[in-house]
Amino acid sequence: MPEPTNIKVIVRVRPYNQREKEQNQRCIIKVMDGSSLLFDPDEEDDEFFYQGAKQQYRDISKRTNKKLTMEFDRVYDTDHTNENLFQECTAPLVDAVLDGYNCSVFVYGATGAGKTFTMLGCENCPGLTFLTMRDLFEKIQSQNATRKFDVGVSYLEVYNEQVMNLLTKTGPLKLREDANGVVVSGLVLKPIYSAEELLHMLTIGNANRTQHPTDANAESSRSHAIFQVHIRITELNTGTKRSVKLSMIDLAGSERAASTKGLGMRFKEGASINKSLLALGNCINKLADGLKHIPYRDSNLTRILKDSLGGNCRTLMIANVSMSSLTYEDTYNTLKYASRAKKI
Ligand code: ADP
Ligand code: MG
Repeated sequence: MPEPTNIKVIVRVRPYNQREKEQNQRCIIKVMDGSSLLFDPDEEDDEFFYQGAKQQYRDISKRTNKKLTMEFDRVYDTDHTNENLFQECTAPLVDAVLDGYNCSVFVYGATGAGKTFTMLGCENCPGLTFLTMRDLFEKIQSQNATRKFDVGVSYLEVYNEQVMNLLTKTGPLKLREDANGVVVSGLVLKPIYSAEELLHMLTIGNANRTQHPTDANAESSRSHAIFQVHIRITELNTGTKRSVKLSMIDLAGSERAASTKGLGMRFKEGASINKSLLALGNCINKLADGLKHIPYRDSNLTRILKDSLGGNCRTLMIANVSMSSLTYEDTYNTLKYASRAKKI
Protein backbone atom coordinates (compact mmCIF):
# COMPACT_ATOMS: atom_id res chain seq x y z
CA MET A 1 0.00 0.00 0.00
CA PRO A 2 1.36 3.44 -0.90
CA GLU A 3 1.33 5.97 1.90
CA PRO A 4 -1.55 8.46 1.68
CA THR A 5 -0.45 11.74 0.14
CA ASN A 6 0.61 14.27 2.70
CA ILE A 7 -0.72 17.69 1.74
CA LYS A 8 -0.46 20.65 4.07
CA VAL A 9 -2.36 23.80 3.26
CA ILE A 10 -1.49 27.05 4.94
CA VAL A 11 -2.78 30.60 4.45
CA ARG A 12 -0.60 33.67 4.67
CA VAL A 13 -2.20 37.09 5.05
CA ARG A 14 -0.08 40.00 3.89
CA PRO A 15 -0.14 43.50 5.40
CA TYR A 16 -2.01 46.32 3.63
CA ASN A 17 -0.14 47.96 0.80
CA GLN A 18 -0.09 51.75 0.37
CA ARG A 19 -3.16 51.82 -1.87
CA GLU A 20 -5.19 49.69 0.51
CA LYS A 21 -4.17 51.88 3.44
CA GLU A 22 -5.10 55.09 1.63
CA GLN A 23 -8.48 53.79 0.55
CA ASN A 24 -9.24 52.57 4.04
CA GLN A 25 -11.27 49.62 2.83
CA ARG A 26 -13.01 47.03 4.92
CA CYS A 27 -10.97 44.21 6.42
CA ILE A 28 -12.35 40.89 5.18
CA ILE A 29 -10.17 38.46 7.08
CA LYS A 30 -10.01 38.00 10.80
CA VAL A 31 -7.42 35.49 11.89
CA MET A 32 -9.01 33.58 14.79
CA ASP A 33 -6.12 31.44 15.90
CA GLY A 34 -3.17 29.57 14.45
CA SER A 35 -5.33 27.44 12.19
CA SER A 36 -8.59 29.23 11.44
CA LEU A 37 -9.86 32.47 10.03
CA LEU A 38 -13.17 34.22 9.61
CA PHE A 39 -13.77 35.42 6.05
CA ASP A 40 -16.00 38.44 5.51
CA PRO A 41 -16.86 39.15 9.16
CA ASP A 42 -19.71 41.41 10.29
CA GLU A 43 -19.09 45.14 10.43
CA GLU A 44 -18.79 45.24 14.20
CA ASP A 45 -15.75 43.06 13.96
CA ASP A 46 -14.11 45.75 11.89
CA GLU A 47 -13.94 48.23 14.73
CA PHE A 48 -11.38 46.00 16.28
CA PHE A 49 -9.12 46.61 13.31
CA TYR A 50 -10.06 50.14 12.44
CA GLN A 51 -10.08 51.57 15.96
CA GLY A 52 -12.70 54.15 15.14
CA ALA A 53 -11.40 55.10 11.69
CA LYS A 54 -14.24 55.98 9.36
CA GLN A 55 -14.70 53.76 6.36
CA GLN A 56 -15.15 55.42 3.01
CA TYR A 57 -16.70 52.68 0.98
CA ARG A 58 -19.69 51.34 2.79
CA ASP A 59 -21.84 49.30 0.47
CA ILE A 60 -25.44 50.51 0.91
CA SER A 61 -27.04 47.82 -1.23
CA LYS A 62 -25.24 45.42 0.97
CA ARG A 63 -25.55 41.65 0.81
CA THR A 64 -25.14 39.86 4.11
CA ASN A 65 -21.60 39.11 5.11
CA LYS A 66 -20.48 35.58 4.46
CA LYS A 67 -18.99 35.06 7.91
CA LEU A 68 -17.29 31.88 6.80
CA THR A 69 -15.08 30.15 9.31
CA MET A 70 -12.35 28.27 7.51
CA GLU A 71 -9.80 25.83 8.88
CA PHE A 72 -6.34 25.21 7.50
CA ASP A 73 -3.24 23.44 8.74
CA ARG A 74 -1.92 26.84 9.70
CA VAL A 75 -2.91 30.47 9.26
CA TYR A 76 -0.21 33.14 9.33
CA ASP A 77 -1.29 36.66 10.19
CA THR A 78 0.54 39.74 8.93
CA ASP A 79 3.11 39.78 11.73
CA HIS A 80 4.72 36.51 10.67
CA THR A 81 8.00 36.61 8.77
CA ASN A 82 9.50 34.45 6.05
CA GLU A 83 11.83 33.13 8.76
CA ASN A 84 8.76 31.96 10.79
CA LEU A 85 7.33 30.16 7.78
CA PHE A 86 10.68 28.58 7.03
CA GLN A 87 11.13 27.29 10.60
CA GLU A 88 7.65 25.80 10.84
CA CYS A 89 6.93 24.71 7.30
CA THR A 90 9.92 24.19 5.05
CA ALA A 91 12.70 23.19 7.48
CA PRO A 92 10.73 19.95 8.18
CA LEU A 93 10.55 19.39 4.41
CA VAL A 94 14.34 19.51 4.15
CA ASP A 95 14.48 16.70 6.72
CA ALA A 96 11.87 14.77 4.72
CA VAL A 97 13.86 15.19 1.49
CA LEU A 98 16.97 13.80 3.17
CA ASP A 99 14.83 10.92 4.43
CA GLY A 100 13.97 10.12 0.81
CA TYR A 101 10.67 11.90 0.14
CA ASN A 102 10.06 14.13 -2.85
CA CYS A 103 8.77 17.43 -1.53
CA SER A 104 7.10 20.40 -3.19
CA VAL A 105 6.21 23.87 -2.02
CA PHE A 106 3.66 25.89 -3.99
CA VAL A 107 2.75 29.52 -3.54
CA TYR A 108 -0.76 30.22 -4.79
CA GLY A 109 -2.71 33.47 -4.98
CA ALA A 110 -3.72 36.45 -7.09
CA THR A 111 -1.12 38.82 -8.49
CA GLY A 112 -0.01 41.12 -5.68
CA ALA A 113 -1.02 38.71 -2.90
CA GLY A 114 2.56 37.95 -1.82
CA LYS A 115 3.72 34.82 -3.66
CA THR A 116 7.07 36.17 -4.81
CA PHE A 117 7.63 37.90 -1.48
CA THR A 118 7.14 34.54 0.21
CA MET A 119 9.44 32.64 -2.15
CA LEU A 120 12.13 35.20 -2.97
CA GLY A 121 11.64 37.74 -0.18
CA CYS A 122 12.99 41.26 -0.33
CA GLU A 123 16.40 42.83 0.18
CA ASN A 124 16.56 42.42 3.95
CA CYS A 125 14.20 39.51 4.35
CA PRO A 126 15.29 36.43 2.41
CA GLY A 127 12.44 34.28 1.16
CA LEU A 128 11.69 30.61 1.63
CA THR A 129 13.87 29.52 -1.29
CA PHE A 130 17.03 31.07 0.15
CA LEU A 131 16.35 29.93 3.73
CA THR A 132 15.42 26.43 2.64
CA MET A 133 18.44 25.99 0.34
CA ARG A 134 20.84 27.24 3.01
CA ASP A 135 19.34 24.76 5.45
CA LEU A 136 19.56 21.96 2.89
CA PHE A 137 23.30 22.50 2.37
CA GLU A 138 23.97 22.76 6.10
CA LYS A 139 22.20 19.45 6.66
CA ILE A 140 24.01 17.85 3.72
CA GLN A 141 27.32 19.00 5.20
CA SER A 142 26.47 17.50 8.58
CA GLN A 143 25.80 14.07 6.98
CA ASN A 144 28.94 14.03 4.82
CA ALA A 145 30.64 11.32 6.87
CA THR A 146 28.05 8.66 6.10
CA ARG A 147 26.51 9.74 2.81
CA LYS A 148 27.58 11.17 -0.51
CA PHE A 149 25.34 13.76 -2.15
CA ASP A 150 25.17 14.71 -5.82
CA VAL A 151 23.13 17.85 -6.26
CA GLY A 152 21.77 19.24 -9.53
CA VAL A 153 19.37 22.05 -10.18
CA SER A 154 16.82 22.91 -12.85
CA TYR A 155 14.66 25.97 -13.27
CA LEU A 156 11.76 25.80 -15.68
CA GLU A 157 9.01 28.16 -16.68
CA VAL A 158 5.60 27.10 -17.95
CA TYR A 159 4.00 29.90 -19.89
CA ASN A 160 0.97 29.30 -22.10
CA GLU A 161 1.64 25.57 -21.71
CA GLN A 162 5.13 26.00 -23.18
CA VAL A 163 8.07 24.77 -21.14
CA MET A 164 11.23 26.92 -21.14
CA ASN A 165 14.57 26.25 -19.47
CA LEU A 166 15.29 29.41 -17.48
CA LEU A 167 18.93 28.51 -16.81
CA THR A 168 19.90 28.23 -20.47
CA LYS A 169 17.11 30.36 -21.91
CA THR A 170 16.15 27.60 -24.31
CA GLY A 171 12.90 26.03 -25.33
CA PRO A 172 10.13 25.27 -25.80
CA LEU A 173 11.07 21.85 -24.45
CA LYS A 174 9.03 18.73 -25.11
CA LEU A 175 7.80 16.42 -22.40
CA ARG A 176 7.83 12.70 -22.95
CA GLU A 177 6.85 9.73 -20.85
CA ASP A 178 9.29 6.90 -20.22
CA ALA A 179 9.37 3.97 -17.81
CA ASN A 180 10.43 6.21 -14.91
CA GLY A 181 7.86 8.90 -15.48
CA VAL A 182 7.81 12.18 -17.34
CA VAL A 183 11.06 13.46 -18.80
CA VAL A 184 11.75 16.98 -20.00
CA SER A 185 13.56 16.45 -23.32
CA GLY A 186 16.97 18.06 -23.51
CA LEU A 187 17.06 19.11 -19.88
CA VAL A 188 20.57 18.86 -18.42
CA LEU A 189 20.85 19.38 -14.68
CA LYS A 190 23.36 21.95 -13.52
CA PRO A 191 25.70 20.38 -10.92
CA ILE A 192 25.85 22.37 -7.69
CA TYR A 193 28.37 22.29 -4.84
CA SER A 194 27.22 25.03 -2.47
CA ALA A 195 24.16 27.00 -1.44
CA GLU A 196 25.70 30.15 -2.95
CA GLU A 197 26.07 28.49 -6.32
CA LEU A 198 22.50 27.29 -6.18
CA LEU A 199 21.19 30.73 -5.36
CA HIS A 200 23.27 32.16 -8.17
CA MET A 201 21.37 29.83 -10.53
CA LEU A 202 18.11 31.12 -9.10
CA THR A 203 19.16 34.69 -9.90
CA ILE A 204 20.14 33.76 -13.45
CA GLY A 205 16.82 32.00 -13.95
CA ASN A 206 14.82 34.90 -12.58
CA ALA A 207 16.49 37.29 -15.00
CA ASN A 208 15.39 34.98 -17.82
CA ARG A 209 11.75 34.83 -16.83
CA THR A 210 9.19 36.05 -19.32
CA GLN A 211 9.22 39.21 -17.27
CA HIS A 212 10.98 39.95 -14.04
CA PRO A 213 9.14 38.17 -11.19
CA THR A 214 8.94 41.19 -8.88
CA ASP A 215 7.27 43.30 -11.54
CA ALA A 216 3.65 43.17 -10.38
CA ASN A 217 1.56 43.37 -13.52
CA ALA A 218 4.04 41.73 -15.82
CA GLU A 219 3.62 38.68 -17.98
CA SER A 220 5.35 36.68 -15.24
CA SER A 221 2.06 36.81 -13.37
CA ARG A 222 0.80 34.34 -15.97
CA SER A 223 3.76 31.98 -15.86
CA HIS A 224 4.68 29.23 -13.42
CA ALA A 225 8.30 29.10 -12.24
CA ILE A 226 9.48 25.65 -11.16
CA PHE A 227 12.75 25.56 -9.25
CA GLN A 228 13.91 22.00 -8.55
CA VAL A 229 16.82 20.60 -6.59
CA HIS A 230 17.60 17.02 -7.58
CA ILE A 231 19.65 15.07 -5.06
CA ARG A 232 21.21 11.65 -5.45
CA ILE A 233 22.02 10.19 -2.05
CA THR A 234 24.60 7.39 -1.81
CA GLU A 235 24.88 5.57 1.51
CA LEU A 236 28.63 5.14 1.93
CA ASN A 237 28.51 1.89 3.93
CA THR A 238 26.11 0.00 1.67
CA GLY A 239 26.46 1.80 -1.65
CA THR A 240 22.67 2.13 -1.88
CA LYS A 241 21.60 5.04 -4.06
CA ARG A 242 18.34 6.91 -4.27
CA SER A 243 17.21 10.10 -5.93
CA VAL A 244 14.92 12.74 -4.46
CA LYS A 245 13.65 16.13 -5.50
CA LEU A 246 12.74 19.32 -3.72
CA SER A 247 10.56 21.59 -5.86
CA MET A 248 9.62 25.20 -5.17
CA ILE A 249 6.95 26.60 -7.43
CA ASP A 250 5.89 30.21 -7.83
CA LEU A 251 2.51 29.74 -9.51
CA ALA A 252 0.85 32.05 -12.00
CA GLY A 253 -1.56 34.63 -10.61
CA SER A 254 -4.80 32.87 -9.74
CA GLU A 255 -7.00 35.76 -10.88
CA ARG A 256 -6.96 34.15 -14.29
CA ALA A 257 -7.99 30.76 -13.02
CA ALA A 258 -11.52 29.56 -13.32
CA SER A 259 -14.19 31.09 -11.19
CA THR A 260 -16.53 28.63 -9.63
CA LYS A 261 -20.22 29.15 -9.97
CA GLY A 262 -22.53 27.53 -7.47
CA LEU A 263 -21.54 25.89 -4.26
CA GLY A 264 -20.43 22.32 -4.36
CA MET A 265 -18.96 22.71 -7.83
CA ARG A 266 -15.29 22.12 -7.64
CA PHE A 267 -13.63 23.55 -10.68
CA LYS A 268 -15.58 24.80 -13.60
CA GLU A 269 -14.01 26.30 -16.65
CA GLY A 270 -14.43 30.02 -16.93
CA ALA A 271 -13.76 32.27 -19.88
CA SER A 272 -10.01 32.67 -19.55
CA ILE A 273 -8.35 29.91 -17.71
CA ASN A 274 -4.89 29.03 -16.73
CA LYS A 275 -4.98 25.40 -17.74
CA SER A 276 -2.11 24.35 -15.50
CA LEU A 277 -3.53 26.04 -12.40
CA LEU A 278 -6.85 24.35 -12.94
CA ALA A 279 -5.22 20.97 -13.51
CA LEU A 280 -3.10 21.36 -10.38
CA GLY A 281 -6.22 22.07 -8.33
CA ASN A 282 -7.91 18.98 -9.71
CA CYS A 283 -4.90 16.75 -9.04
CA ILE A 284 -4.49 18.02 -5.48
CA ASN A 285 -8.25 17.56 -4.79
CA LYS A 286 -8.12 13.99 -5.95
CA LEU A 287 -4.92 13.21 -4.08
CA ALA A 288 -6.33 14.71 -0.91
CA ASP A 289 -9.46 12.59 -1.33
CA GLY A 290 -7.31 9.48 -1.74
CA LEU A 291 -8.60 8.72 -5.25
CA LYS A 292 -6.69 6.39 -7.55
CA HIS A 293 -6.92 8.12 -10.91
CA ILE A 294 -5.09 11.43 -10.83
CA PRO A 295 -5.31 13.57 -14.02
CA TYR A 296 -1.64 14.58 -14.21
CA ARG A 297 -1.78 14.54 -18.00
CA ASP A 298 -4.17 17.48 -18.16
CA SER A 299 -1.44 20.13 -18.12
CA ASN A 300 2.30 20.53 -18.49
CA LEU A 301 2.75 21.78 -14.93
CA THR A 302 1.16 18.63 -13.47
CA ARG A 303 3.02 16.39 -15.90
CA ILE A 304 6.38 17.87 -14.83
CA LEU A 305 5.46 17.54 -11.15
CA LYS A 306 3.87 14.10 -11.38
CA ASP A 307 6.55 12.41 -9.27
CA SER A 308 6.57 15.30 -6.79
CA LEU A 309 2.86 15.29 -6.01
CA GLY A 310 1.44 11.82 -5.64
CA GLY A 311 2.33 8.86 -3.51
CA ASN A 312 5.45 9.13 -1.46
CA CYS A 313 5.58 12.91 -1.42
CA ARG A 314 5.14 15.83 0.89
CA THR A 315 3.27 18.80 -0.52
CA LEU A 316 2.96 22.24 1.02
CA MET A 317 0.49 24.70 -0.49
CA ILE A 318 0.85 28.28 0.68
CA ALA A 319 -2.20 30.38 -0.20
CA ASN A 320 -1.38 34.08 -0.19
CA VAL A 321 -4.11 36.65 0.38
CA SER A 322 -4.64 40.31 1.18
CA MET A 323 -7.22 41.20 3.84
CA SER A 324 -8.53 44.29 2.08
CA SER A 325 -12.02 44.28 0.56
CA LEU A 326 -10.35 45.72 -2.57
CA THR A 327 -9.41 42.14 -3.40
CA TYR A 328 -12.61 40.51 -2.13
CA GLU A 329 -13.19 38.12 -5.07
CA ASP A 330 -9.53 37.12 -5.40
CA THR A 331 -9.25 36.40 -1.69
CA TYR A 332 -12.50 34.45 -1.65
CA ASN A 333 -11.44 32.35 -4.66
CA THR A 334 -7.99 31.70 -3.20
CA LEU A 335 -9.45 30.56 0.11
CA LYS A 336 -11.90 28.29 -1.71
CA TYR A 337 -9.10 26.78 -3.80
CA ALA A 338 -7.00 26.29 -0.67
CA SER A 339 -9.75 24.66 1.36
CA ARG A 340 -10.58 22.29 -1.50
CA ALA A 341 -6.97 21.16 -1.43
CA LYS A 342 -7.52 19.71 2.01
CA LYS A 343 -8.81 16.29 2.76
CA ILE A 344 -12.60 16.17 2.96
P1 ADP B 1 2.76 38.23 -6.15
O1 ADP B 1 4.07 37.58 -6.43
O2 ADP B 1 1.76 37.30 -5.52
O3 ADP B 1 2.20 38.92 -7.35
P2 ADP B 1 4.32 39.98 -4.50
O4 ADP B 1 5.05 38.99 -3.70
O5 ADP B 1 5.08 40.63 -5.63
O6 ADP B 1 2.97 39.38 -5.06
O7 ADP B 1 3.77 41.08 -3.48
C1 ADP B 1 3.16 42.30 -3.88
C2 ADP B 1 3.72 43.43 -3.01
O8 ADP B 1 3.38 43.23 -1.64
C3 ADP B 1 5.23 43.52 -3.06
O9 ADP B 1 5.58 44.88 -3.05
C4 ADP B 1 5.67 42.85 -1.78
O10 ADP B 1 6.91 43.32 -1.31
C5 ADP B 1 4.54 43.15 -0.82
N1 ADP B 1 4.35 42.04 0.17
C6 ADP B 1 3.81 40.85 -0.10
N2 ADP B 1 3.76 40.06 1.00
C7 ADP B 1 4.28 40.80 2.01
C8 ADP B 1 4.50 40.55 3.41
N3 ADP B 1 4.17 39.38 3.99
N4 ADP B 1 5.06 41.53 4.13
C9 ADP B 1 5.39 42.73 3.56
N5 ADP B 1 5.21 43.02 2.24
C10 ADP B 1 4.66 42.08 1.47
MG1 MG C 1 5.03 37.31 -8.25
